[in-house]
Amino acid sequence: MKAETGDPAGAWQRDADGELLVAGQPLSRVVAAVGGTPCYLYDRARVTARVRGLRERLPSGVQLHYAMKANPMPALVCHVAGLVDGLDVASAGELRVALDSGMAPERVSFAGPGKSDAELAQAVAAGILVNVESFREIGVLARAGERLGLKPRVAVRVNLPFELKASGMKMSGGARQFGVDAELVPELLREIAVAGLGFEGFHMFAGSQNLRHAAIVEAQRRCYEQALEWQDLLPAPVRSLNLGGGFGIPYTPGEAALDLGPVIDNLGGLAQRLPSDWPGAHIVIELGRYLVGEAGLYVSRVVDRKVSRGQVFLVVDGGMHHHLAATGNFGQVIRRNYPVAINRTDLGTETASVVGPLCTPMDLLADRMELHRAEAGDLVVVFQSGAYGRSASPRGFLSHPDVAEALV
Ligand SMILES: *Cc1c(COP(=O)(O)O)cnc(C)c1O
Repeated sequence: MKAETGDPAGAWQRDADGELLVAGQPLSRVVAAVGGTPCYLYDRARVTARVRGLRERLPSGVQLHYAMKANPMPALVCHVAGLVDGLDVASAGELRVALDSGMAPERVSFAGPGKSDAELAQAVAAGILVNVESFREIGVLARAGERLGLKPRVAVRVNLPFELKASGMKMSGGARQFGVDAELVPELLREIAVAGLGFEGFHMFAGSQNLRHAAIVEAQRRCYEQALEWQDLLPAPVRSLNLGGGFGIPYTPGEAALDLGPVIDNLGGLAQRLPSDWPGAHIVIELGRYLVGEAGLYVSRVVDRKVSRGQVFLVVDGGMHHHLAATGNFGQVIRRNYPVAINRTDLGTETASVVGPLCTPMDLLADRMELHRAEAGDLVVVFQSGAYGRSASPRGFLSHPDVAEALV
């Protein structure tokens, strides 16, 4: 094994002592400054570079939103809010953080099945855009609007008649709990008009974690064409056409980063058609993982080093209760190791498994990987951990302590 850091993109450097550098400092110092392990570290400069880099390439007429469910840590959301055009929330809890961030309510949207009456009323009062996902939501929004003396702002979330090919997680096509089936959209649009809601556009989200530009381009085109079919049924002009996102990041050495060029070109083409198809409208893409995933590290410390029948196990003070996705239990079909590295390089290399303290074989952060050799007390890093980490993990399972998070 080469003395590389272990991350797939080779994006993280080591200092002369072999320690990983985070925000310009050796990892051990950063960890000490945030109060020890286990912890998530989110690199502020990397988030900034990623979001700015993408936004600069987006054609005018295309807005970039951050989907907060990828990582709702308040300090991170506040930072990202200053770099994007809007925030997408999926609960009243996320809505509170979004409003705290200083993002203008006009630029916040709310999607998700099963929004409660209270959540919908909160959304109306806040003045955010609600992506309607059922006929029931129309009535609830109309009543909330009457009570508050406000006109609820809505877009229609569509369950498309197709799915996003090659997606890590499909969220459209066939029978789904998300959105309203495309066939029912004409009827829904009529009800929105009758209820007197403020129609603003469509929301179409086909899937997540996609590394194939051709699949993303095709989905965006088909979403655009789909929305055109309802041209004569609109209760009000389309202002916002949300084409979803689904941009993925690589997790294994075999995965190549998404080639953004064709996706940007396609968005440019659609943005050019926009003024004639829907004058005054803009396109939105909403991304979570792509904006923050690569900027995050999950850091734990070796508690015990065990050899079982010739196999080395590094038992660490963190695991699936903090980072379910890294153990392969967050929707993955096949378990693959996340990129993992040891924060020292002076003891040679070996094949080792990294496991957490939970009494279940699922608590496996690295399965027989080639790693630098580690002893008790050494730090273990899981890369690509900025999205779907702490908030997407069963932190109560086995009643171990929670994990700290820091924006560094
Ligand atoms: C989860 C979700 C996202 C974010 O997906 P990523 O793969 O993290 O970019 C965006 N929009 C909706 C509607 C979602 O449910």
